[in-house]
Amino acid sequence: MKKIGITTTVPVEILIAAGYQPVDLNNILVSDSDPTRYITIAERDGFPLNTCAWIKGIYGVCLESGIKDVLCVTSGDCSNTIMLMEVFKLKGKNAMSFAYPERPNVEETDYVLEKMAATFGTTLEAAERVRQELKPVRNLALKLDEMTWRENKVTGAENHLWLVSASDFNGDVAKYQKDIEALLDTAVKREPYTNQIRLGYIGVPPVYAKELYAYTEKHGARVVFNEVQRQFAMPQGGDSLAGQYSNYTYPYSINERLADIKAEIKKRHIDGVIHYVQAFCHRGIGDIVMRSAIKVPILTLEGNAEFYLNGHLKTRIEAFLDMIERNPSFKAKLDVK
Ligand code: SF4
Repeated sequence: MKKIGITTTVPVEILIAAGYQPVDLNNILVSDSDPTRYITIAERDGFPLNTCAWIKGIYGVCLESGIKDVLCVTSGDCSNTIMLMEVFKLKGKNAMSFAYPERPNVEETDYVLEKMAATFGTTLEAAERVRQELKPVRNLALKLDEMTWRENKVTGAENHLWLVSASDFNGDVAKYQKDIEALLDTAVKREPYTNQIRLGYIGVPPVYAKELYAYTEKHGARVVFNEVQRQFAMPQGGDSLAGQYSNYTYPYSINERLADIKAEIKKRHIDGVIHYVQAFCHRGIGDIVMRSAIKVPILTLEGNAEFYLNGHLKTRIEAFLDMIERNPSFKAKLDVK
């Protein structure tokens, strides 16, 4: 299969039906042992210092990996991708665009998916067959999510990793399925985790995921809800490909996201939320709306191009967890137990 880079979650069913192997450039960036070097590649090529690290990083990954075809999402993710696409073209990449419709509307989504299928020389019928084939794999990711919050047998880091990887199934659906099945078999035999503070994580995936989840667990908390990562696994499903991608909340307004976030905060008995914002990202402004709508304590953490937790972030996390522990409603919850 021919590899195609993707800049965020896209309807991979169409790409697979067309004979491509989607590769999420973001996942390669953060799983690398030295992700900073990709950012250096971008800055050497002229990307401004005040460009988001994800954009610079995926540029570096794409150039170094030699991937020729790239599908860039120009609406429903990041406006920077429009210019990134232009630079990809300049560098000889076959950069194509995909735009989610403005609203999560099935007819409008069907229209853009039809166009995308035609561009790649396939059909929505073929993509629907792939969707059915992927359903059991997506269900495994959702099972893992349930084991995180309901059975307390999966860590926040595992939850993050396997859900975020659902954007491209790590480039190998069969291996992803085998590996997640193995993890589920292991997790089911674990004693439930007893961390008392239950956290939600909202916002784009963090650049310092390798440390963030472990750090909260070291201090008596566990992330039991990863908002955007869970969306990558398409938790609401749908009757059709267009239905599935209309139920996917990330490309749309904050209101769609908030409906999902509020329902999960309640269902998962979440005590506090970490809202991650990326430096130089327009989505950071959404923190104002998130803070006014979410009624549990929120800690807003920013990240730039440091792929680890610095001392300042660690102190803020500890202070946040301490504040939750002292919160009368949290104490009352423990007393009921
Ligand atoms: S974090 Fe924000 S600026 Fe960076 S790629 Fe994502 S949407 Fe774009």
